[in-house]
Amino acid sequence: MNLRDDARALSGDLIQLRRTLHRIPETGLDLPRTQETVLAALDGLPLEVRTGDGLSSVTAVLRGGRPGPTVLLRGDMDALPVAERTGLDFAADNGRMHACGHDLHTTMLTGAAKLLSAHRDRLAGNVLFMFQPGEEGYDGARYMLAEGLLDATGQRPAAAYAIHVLSAGLPSGVFRTRGGTAMAASNTLRVTVQGEGGHGSMPHRAKDPVQAGCAMVTALQAWITRTFDVFDPVILTVGTFHAGTKQNVIPDTAVFEATVRSFSDAAQARVKDGTVEVCRGIAAAYGVDVDAEFQEVYPVTVNDHTEADFAAGAVREALGEERYVPQAQPLQGSEDFSRVLAEVPGAMLFLGAPPRGADPERSPNNHSPLAEFDDAVLADGATLYAELAARRLASA
Ligand SMILES: [Zn+2]
Repeated sequence: MNLRDDARALSGDLIQLRRTLHRIPETGLDLPRTQETVLAALDGLPLEVRTGDGLSSVTAVLRGGRPGPTVLLRGDMDALPVAERTGLDFAADNGRMHACGHDLHTTMLTGAAKLLSAHRDRLAGNVLFMFQPGEEGYDGARYMLAEGLLDATGQRPAAAYAIHVLSAGLPSGVFRTRGGTAMAASNTLRVTVQGEGGHGSMPHRAKDPVQAGCAMVTALQAWITRTFDVFDPVILTVGTFHAGTKQNVIPDTAVFEATVRSFSDAAQARVKDGTVEVCRGIAAAYGVDVDAEFQEVYPVTVNDHTEADFAAGAVREALGEERYVPQAQPLQGSEDFSRVLAEVPGAMLFLGAPPRGADPERSPNNHSPLAEFDDAVLADGATLYAELAARRLASA
């Protein structure tokens, strides 16, 4: 089977499907129009298709002509609450945007379903296609796992792969991955400082939550630098800080929120308790009350070393040596594919898709209202999904 040639023949259809999805971005766990579009694209293929109960997921199983293991391929489908400013003729106008390129993932995965369906008889095993809503902070993968994703073929998958496009930082059509830690764990720290308001001229008769809150913000940064090995880093960024109504009034409360990223289970465990302790200690020193809540959003994404090497080999052999570069460092972003990789050995790969002619080091990043992704990568993305499954089944 020459999946790459087959994919090239599909390229026009893939571009059309991607632009259709791009025009109808939906966010969260409920993506009815996206789901309908995916179901229409899969219609007529020899798949066992199931939709989610609590979310608009699509699970499709392709059973090969011969028995063998199951390989899971994941594509996420949700968009972001970003108002698109690309000016593209297929730009979205509903205040939401496929600014993370999940429209490309969805399209590539339907392409792989078509490519593999055409060679069904030659596959020894099953392919489980995971079309997932709610990657952007809604933990869609966790819900799909809870609804029995991994039992869809009757046997646990032997391997799992996902591809994520990048609008910057990697040349178009180039893949990269790494064994071990691939992406950060993501957490949210929410802190409410409860003081006692008063007159700005008489702070000694109040308990100033602004001053205490500011001390927490700076103490957290200092604590991180004295606590964690620089080679196992933690990132903490306070993104919101709200307090007060007027310059001469000490308010009752101050509220701030931070995103916290870590790259190992050890650092994650330490930062989880430590940030809360720092806030409590500062609160005690200032005589205010504090409610500090550390919410774990997504765990560290860890690629299996063998599966990452296997995926790198698949890129080189199927698409060419020049299409693969090793990934030196983990990305600071996070992923709920981490939840699948905690259950099944596998790998997350990144695919460069900056706009044609743009300098990848200067093009707008994923999540920007100006982020653009090159449709030209769709055929090779679909090829690679299909190659990963076909090769992994053949190697079992
Ligand atoms: Zn994404």
